[in-house]
Amino acid sequence: LRASNSVIQKETGFINGLITVLHDITEQAKIDQDRREFVANVSHELRTPLTTMRSYIEALTEGAWEDKKIAPQFLDVTQQETERMIRLVNDLLKLSKMDSKDYMLQKDSFDVVSFLNRVIDRFELSKSSDVTFQRDLPNEHIYVYIDIDKITQVLDNIISNAMKYSPEGGTVTFHLKVQQQHVEICISDEGVGIPAKDLDKIFDRFYRVDKARTRKLGGTGLGLAIAKEMIEAHDGRIWAKSEEGKGTSIFFTLPLIDNQEDDWT
Ligand code: ADP
Repeated sequence: LRASNSVIQKETGFINGLITVLHDITEQAKIDQDRREFVANVSHELRTPLTTMRSYIEALTEGAWEDKKIAPQFLDVTQQETERMIRLVNDLLKLSKMDSKDYMLQKDSFDVVSFLNRVIDRFELSKSSDVTFQRDLPNEHIYVYIDIDKITQVLDNIISNAMKYSPEGGTVTFHLKVQQQHVEICISDEGVGIPAKDLDKIFDRFYRVDKARTRKLGGTGLGLAIAKEMIEAHDGRIWAKSEEGKGTSIFFTLPLIDNQEDDWT
């Protein structure tokens, strides 16, 4: 603990009090350390695509632009790297919005089953891979009180990971279980899986199990950190189970609305 004293003094010079503030410096030191690490990570994450782009642009300037075969490939790389930086900056903005004090959830009541079905429909229509979606969802209305945009973002992040890490022809399964005070949603894939020692860390900002591989897949390393912040802002929990080579399941909970009998249409 560190103490700092300030004297309360009136304009007349009359002293009428003393304030002592105790700072928990271990907590503060941890926050400072996390912040430094975060800035270092962000800088590194931005430098990588920038240096790649610089070398490709240099090569183009030095003559590669004249080569009809190579030039489009090099331009393609710079375009992909630009897209990645945009994704990264957008993810950073999402995190920083949630960190800000005036961050508010726009909650409303929604039937979580039809909401999930709509999200899955959207992925089914737009997917480019040959992953199959399987729905193990109850055939009833279950109401939760959520910020729909935030939970859509959570699902987008989890589902795109499930697809990214799935083998060709793999199945992604959606389960929904009603428990006493919350619903538990689980999204499972049959992909590469995650080693046990990394399981808790995948929700940390910028943590990736296999840096080279996930970079190639275009990830930012922030998707699950954003999902965790958003679920916790809803008083829910998020966690993962996985078996290497067999697949991964991401679970999260959302609190149920107390009285499910009410008409929330
Ligand atoms: P990224 O943008 O790299 O996917 P995320 O925060 O979404 O970042 O995920 C963090 C890391 O967790 C990933 O880099 C990957 O190593 C691992 N991961 C996440 N989801 C899965 C999954 N379904 N299967 C295997 N690994 C996964």
